[in-house]
Amino acid sequence: MTAETVAPRLRTAVPRQMGASMADVVNRASGRGVDAERRRAIAPDALAPELARAAAEVAGVCVRPVIGKVTDTSSGDTRTVAIPCGSTRESRCPSCADRARRLRMHQCREGWHLTDEPERPLPERVDLLPDGDGEEQADDGDGEDEADDGDGGSRRVRSTRRRRDVPDLPRVPMEDRTVGRTFEAPNGTVYRPSMFVTLTLPSYGRVTAEGVPVDPSRYDYRRAALDAMHFAKLVDRFWQNLRRCAGYRVQYFASVEAQRRLALHLHAAVRGAIPRRIFRQVRAATYHQVWWPAHDTPVYVDRLPVWTDAGYVDPDTGELLPAWDDAVDAIDDPAHVVRFGEQDDLRGVNPGTPGADRDIGYLCKYLVKSIADTYDDDSELPPARAAHIDRLAEECRWLPCSPGCANWLRFGVQPKDAEPGMTPGHCKGRAHDRENLGLGGRRVLVSRQWSGKTLAAHKADRAAVVRAALEEAGVDPDDHDELSISGSDGRWDWEVLGRSRVDEATYAAAIAEAIETRQRWRREYEAARELTAARAGPAPPPVIGEAAA
Ligand SMILES: [Zn+2]
Ligand SMILES: [Zn+2]
Repeated sequence: MTAETVAPRLRTAVPRQMGASMADVVNRASGRGVDAERRRAIAPDALAPELARAAAEVAGVCVRPVIGKVTDTSSGDTRTVAIPCGSTRESRCPSCADRARRLRMHQCREGWHLTDEPERPLPERVDLLPDGDGEEQADDGDGEDEADDGDGGSRRVRSTRRRRDVPDLPRVPMEDRTVGRTFEAPNGTVYRPSMFVTLTLPSYGRVTAEGVPVDPSRYDYRRAALDAMHFAKLVDRFWQNLRRCAGYRVQYFASVEAQRRLALHLHAAVRGAIPRRIFRQVRAATYHQVWWPAHDTPVYVDRLPVWTDAGYVDPDTGELLPAWDDAVDAIDDPAHVVRFGEQDDLRGVNPGTPGADRDIGYLCKYLVKSIADTYDDDSELPPARAAHIDRLAEECRWLPCSPGCANWLRFGVQPKDAEPGMTPGHCKGRAHDRENLGLGGRRVLVSRQWSGKTLAAHKADRAAVVRAALEEAGVDPDDHDELSISGSDGRWDWEVLGRSRVDEATYAAAIAEAIETRQRWRREYEAARELTAARAGPAPPPVIGEAAA
């Protein structure tokens, strides 16, 4: 990429899903089982529109809810409700992002130091968070063999070429367990340690303390971008290798984040303790080869291939570009190889220590930020930082993110499943977004047998804790049904209103109601805790901040 092609910053909008199900909307709006106080309509002037966002932020309710209108078909009564946006990004909605982060911390805590085997989860992927920010729970790639990204079906031919340049890893018998071993100290104390590990990517050139290249012209932006784009595969491979060498089914809760220089790194809570020597051996031996056609030299920059019935052709000669499968079959060498850097941080962690909890906070701390915004506030970006981000973003914009990426046309190859209208530089893949800087997939990677629960179950758990506390204190828990998910009884018509169809006063009133509901929850929950404490016994865990709607 040359300097003159640097384009204005990309801000690709990704369509977002709503943060709540239809059943949620109906429950909320119908006030199912809710006291008369709650059903009372909020006065339209309850909150000045210009204060709505700030008030919502202070109260911890969604600052940009979607407004739903629900009509009771029997009475004709209509009611508007605020549906939380469910974003995981602080810059979009601090309240929803904070709730999502706390949920992740809860999930991390639940699985880290298990002493009994968790239930084996169902094979189905039933655990996707209904948010648009790409943090689905991961499959942990339990499979024994390398996946082939060429999608070209020539895996067998290549397999003999693999792993020639890496040291052999020790292979130990696999025990059928996911929990860590115990160790007995000389004084008889028994420990069951786990680990907190950080893995990084290699250097692309010297950087200053501010994380910007000392000499941008000698910083390897292309490699930095490619490594980021294929980082998730490298991480998958690492866990597979680690399992073979550790001798048990190692489980992890990991987050992918940016270092100050904007290279990705991985923090992971790992269940059980693995000798550092083994860890480092696996780290050094792990690599991921990208079996894609070469894409180091752009072929079509100003002239672009043209779509015909046969596929994309050269605009001047009319010659058909090689089809994806043919281009893959012709590969002799991987287009790119990703490896970890030499830096790592491997620490033993004992359950129940302050350090263990601190680590969980650290693991989840930056999940509310995008990769590019991790260390910077976009509004006051120093020029050198801005230039560094822009340069890396530019590289990510033009490299192919997947076999079906439109950017293949730039390198003279038909994208897999090519179709009309593909333009290099305009692929919708997330990896190209300026805020993601190459990371196209998940920020949180959780192995399947981390806690034996899905994220949805963790969510339900927290609601259950609140409910149990209320019940114990003699408050009817059915009055607090916001988090339950059940079907509609067909008595309600509902409609989600586009923002343009909601006037400011209605919008503000809906937010006011959400704030009031949350505050009532909190009061009742606090009262319930006090009452329960007064009746003896320890107080229930303080989770109201996470569970209130
Ligand atoms: Zn929100
Ligand atoms: Zn793409």
